[in-house]
Amino acid sequence: MTGICDSFQRGISYLRISVTDRCNLRCIYCMPPEGVEQVPHGEILSFEEIMLVVRSAVKLGISKIRVTGGEPLVRSGIVELVRMISSVDGVKDISMTTNGVLLEKYARELVSAGLQRINISLDTLKFDRFSQITRTGTLADTLKGLQAARDAGLNPVKINVVPMQGINDDEILDFARMTLEAGWHVRFIELMPLNRAAEFIPSSVLRQRIETLGPLQPFYGIAGNGAAKYFRLPGAAGTIGFISPVSAPFCDECNRLRLSATGLLFPCLFSETGFDLKAPIRAGADAEALKRLLTAAIAAKPEKHHLAEGQRIDTKMSSIGG
Ligand code: SAM
Ligand code: SF4
Repeated sequence: MTGICDSFQRGISYLRISVTDRCNLRCIYCMPPEGVEQVPHGEILSFEEIMLVVRSAVKLGISKIRVTGGEPLVRSGIVELVRMISSVDGVKDISMTTNGVLLEKYARELVSAGLQRINISLDTLKFDRFSQITRTGTLADTLKGLQAARDAGLNPVKINVVPMQGINDDEILDFARMTLEAGWHVRFIELMPLNRAAEFIPSSVLRQRIETLGPLQPFYGIAGNGAAKYFRLPGAAGTIGFISPVSAPFCDECNRLRLSATGLLFPCLFSETGFDLKAPIRAGADAEALKRLLTAAIAAKPEKHHLAEGQRIDTKMSSIGG
């Protein structure tokens, strides 16, 4: 392994960058109906500031970057930022997580800017339910975004589904069937109890239900960053992934840091405080000073979270990037 390790000998190779706290949806498990209080524009890292962090991270051995949000596609100039990141020597993998609403417009440009793969969040295939879960969205937009991502050559295109008891759990098999002939890659993410939106469904329960369609065979050949365990239904062109932060935490394989839109570097999704990079950057910190701050954040990575034991913190997925 090249690069930097944390105090628990985990290699840190992955930086997730939230480029905005704003979003064009209001998903029930992520945001209050009125949205979150918007941070003034000047408090958000500029592209140049983000690039300073990216270059320092790469010098420490980080080679995978994910652009997320909020909704990354509402940040003006997002294609240019992707181009800037992908042109850094040492960035080997660049991906994005999006709700897909604006993807039909941007998919081709993102690919020509260097984006390689994409995760698209989609919790229901029913039109009225989509509007209820996202409060403001239209299913047709995200479906068009999915198709546009595939047509533009992003690969893999992964669909992220958050199953919720009594809300969309009657659609698990419909999502699983999307992996058959159509060959989509579908990942089920356990709902993290950041607010009281709904009850989570353990991956083991989903797996049992999906196996009514056929036995799930482990699958290892899909690009990603380790949080999901992948399987395939017999004859399926696509894969089914389970991400189980609550029932089977993957902390011992955690390889990531998270940069918030306002320049806080979080060692863990559940860290209560982040390392402020914005103030030192605006005070003129050089690359060496930034590297020292990144190294400190890596050293502060906790061994694990304690969600299963009832840990609750006021993490805002929309600002830290999910
Ligand atoms: N707006 C983009 C999107 O929705 O894909 C990117 C940001 S969103 C915060 C990133 C991911 O976090 C999405 O896949 C979303 O489903 C997931 N997410 C948000 N809140 C969650 C929660 N409480 N539990 C599990 N996943 C959550
Ligand atoms: Fe927006 Fe993504 Fe949060 Fe939904 S999950 S409200 S799309 S940031």
